[in-house]
Amino acid sequence: MTRFRTLDDLGDVTGKVALVRVDLNLPMQDGAVTDDTRVRAAVPTIVELADKGAKVLLLAHFGRPKGERVSTQSLSMVVAEVQKVLGREVMFVPEIAGPVVAQAVGILGNGDVAILENTRFWKGEEANDPELAKAIAANGDFYVNDAFSAAHRAHATTEGLAHVLPAYAGRSMEAELTALDKALGNPVKPVAAVVGGAKVSSKLDVLKHLVTQVDHLIIGGGMANTFLAAGGIDVGKSLCEHDLAATAEEILDNADKAGCTVHLPYDVVVSKEFAANPPSLRECNVHEVAADEMILDVGASAVEALADVLKTCRTLVWNGPLGAFETEPFDKATVALARTAAALTREGSLVSVAGGGDTVAALNHAGAASDFTYISTAGGAFLEWMEGKELPGVKALEI
Ligand code: ADP
Ligand code: MG
Repeated sequence: MTRFRTLDDLGDVTGKVALVRVDLNLPMQDGAVTDDTRVRAAVPTIVELADKGAKVLLLAHFGRPKGERVSTQSLSMVVAEVQKVLGREVMFVPEIAGPVVAQAVGILGNGDVAILENTRFWKGEEANDPELAKAIAANGDFYVNDAFSAAHRAHATTEGLAHVLPAYAGRSMEAELTALDKALGNPVKPVAAVVGGAKVSSKLDVLKHLVTQVDHLIIGGGMANTFLAAGGIDVGKSLCEHDLAATAEEILDNADKAGCTVHLPYDVVVSKEFAANPPSLRECNVHEVAADEMILDVGASAVEALADVLKTCRTLVWNGPLGAFETEPFDKATVALARTAAALTREGSLVSVAGGGDTVAALNHAGAASDFTYISTAGGAFLEWMEGKELPGVKALEI
């Protein structure tokens, strides 16, 4: 596992200025924050540093202003929400470097917190300009990265700062890296992976990497159709990437060579139209899908078999729903398998880690998320980690 410094390695920080990269890219609608998960994730690090007497300067991006000041994407918009979740007063500073920040540092008392402006207002952020990193660093004593979700980007505040200041992983970053290491870095075997979702094309690299890492690869969702079709099965009008047949075959070959067992559904839920509880709904063997039907979920007996696979495993990593779970009853397989994983985790026989926007929604829908060992909300960074890629923001923290 990557070795990195954590907040435990900090000496006395009284009166020191902490530059803390967090994820404040909050979902908003009509000026109101619709989900405060990311703020809550940053709280432990902010509170710990503030309570140790540091002056805490938060760095974050918001939206995609592309190197320009865009008033509707000012981080001032999230200050009220951060104050609410943190339960403390937070100052807003409309710059990220220079005399305005220096002046703010002078005004802040030990243990106070400020949010600096949207880092992406400056072109040097995404260009990872070392001059910008140096200018930001000039107002701080040390750097803490607590934004795993931005760690797949080599930007000035996600990567560059780690080269110009003593760098530490924040509590949320530390928890994420520890959980991911337990799931794929250094897992207890046997390891199962569930990969689902709409398309093979969006997760090709994930599949390629996983077959070399896990003992059981469970493929569900729309992407299973591509594998079934590659094997000569008629999937009717299911979502299917027929042009990826050769790639699917190659992935299966590689799995075979690596000793990874791939599980594809052998019975499925089909219907002629994509709607909630459609009249044409039925379950059938994968060989019995009619030309005018589409596969929208894994069938009940296949799910039972998959549950049995999980019972033999000690580690599970999950990305992608098994069916079109947003529409009933095509959530059934995902819900059933998620609950099995949750129960096994509760019993202590499984370490379960999941990530991905729709996956988290599906696990919440199943009431299973809170029982999982770890749920990553990181999106792109989580997927790149599942592809076996080194994340620049994590690499820069390495000691
Ligand atoms: P995540 O966001 O967790 O990475 P994806 O975005 O890859 O997951 O995939 C989720 C989407 O896949 C969902 O919108 C779901 O409806 C869709 N999906 C799953 N199974 C099927 C299927 N059999 N046919 C069509 N769409 C599917
Ligand atoms: Mg998605």
